Amino acid sequence: MSQRLNSAVATLLLATGCAGASAAMAADGGEARFRDILKELVETNTTLSAGDCTLAAQRMAARLRAAGYPESDLRVFVPEGHPKEGGLLAVLHGTNPKARAILMLAHVDVVEARREDWTRDPFTLVEEGGYFYARGVADMKTEAAIWVDNLIRYREEGFRPPRTVKLALTCGEETSGALNGAGWLAEHARSDIDAALAITEGVDGDLDAEGRRVMLGILAAEKLSQNYRFEVTNPGGHSSRPIPDNAIYHLVRAVDRVSQHEFPVELIDANRNYLLGMSKIVGGAKGEAMARVAANPKDAAAVAVLDEDKNVHAMLRTTCVATMLSAGHATNALPQRATANINCRLMPGVAIEDIRRQLETIAADPAVKVTIPQVRGPTALPAPLTAQILKPVEQVAHELWPGVPVVPMLEPGASDAQFLNPAGIPTYGVSGLFFDSDGGNMHGLNERIPVRSVYEGRTFLYRLIKLYASQ
Ligand SMILES: [Zn+2]
Repeated sequence: MSQRLNSAVATLLLATGCAGASAAMAADGGEARFRDILKELVETNTTLSAGDCTLAAQRMAARLRAAGYPESDLRVFVPEGHPKEGGLLAVLHGTNPKARAILMLAHVDVVEARREDWTRDPFTLVEEGGYFYARGVADMKTEAAIWVDNLIRYREEGFRPPRTVKLALTCGEETSGALNGAGWLAEHARSDIDAALAITEGVDGDLDAEGRRVMLGILAAEKLSQNYRFEVTNPGGHSSRPIPDNAIYHLVRAVDRVSQHEFPVELIDANRNYLLGMSKIVGGAKGEAMARVAANPKDAAAVAVLDEDKNVHAMLRTTCVATMLSAGHATNALPQRATANINCRLMPGVAIEDIRRQLETIAADPAVKVTIPQVRGPTALPAPLTAQILKPVEQVAHELWPGVPVVPMLEPGASDAQFLNPAGIPTYGVSGLFFDSDGGNMHGLNERIPVRSVYEGRTFLYRLIKLYASQ
């Protein structure tokens, strides 16, 4: 998930080495240097079409090298055949070899952004009116820059926790079909990323219209993205002699029936706790509906109130939506083939084949073949949200933002947790970054993040990883 500007000071400091950097720390807590890391990361284009994650990884490795990390603790990895889709592994060694590590995970690739569509250059970090603007400042180069900054600060301080602190920067999270770096690591470098827990993106904090902090989310579970294919084939013929048996008509009717179908509300710990936590914060009719649905998911009137909010609607159930259509081969021919991609977001634990069968029933037309084009990876239940995970988040949140509740959430989207959880590395999404209600327009135009959120999030994640590493 995910979203800008400029300072040349830190580049100079880096060039002067540790003594210069320490002087900067004294002056501003290393903020100028951190901002320069963020700027460098943002201004390294990492889109699939024209970008280079390997270059971003090399640049971040150079930062860590300059901070004193030896080559043996840094590894820029480049999956075979994917020269520009590399990433970075780095290690700060703990003192207790028996204690499992903490993994700071971030993808550095970003969604495509075209200069002509944006108000400002998407690949220049721009600070304006209290916001950083640029592709990736929200999703998720700020968190990635904080991870790099954390490692630099911990080393400068001589921080030697019992647990080893690991960093993995990866590529390929934003583009389905691209090689996913976290998935690649789970398969090819499992021991290098082994950890008691991993922290990555997922959910953030919410600001209200006046900029007040409403709540800080922690991702407790996420849905699985799975595509299904609807396909109708037909002998076709000349379009001057139409017949009712038409591949396009079969397909669109089936797709329309998908649009009318609503999957039932399904409560698990993550969304039930979200409803209970938010019902008090939201208040009013919506807050009351949240409490009612948490107690009884069959309360149709209350569900209807919540369904007006697309975020809550998606958090309550499996959803399926038509995302692509393709049909016909000539403007003057009856179609021989019509296909649709139906993208479903499955609640945790729901079987992929079960939804395929349900889609067949919903399509209600034997002419429509419902298939699974590709299963992205193994599925796993979400990692449990234990006190060991939650307490440090609550503690640091309380120190920085007293009174702001921490709310577990079920994320309708999917993060790299989908690769690490099945590999036995419990993965949670928490950023400490607070966004306006537009979520910073991640993936969209003029992606942005409040400047204050960036610096506060840096403090939050710096302290949080310290607590986890010291457990
Ligand atoms: Zn992301």
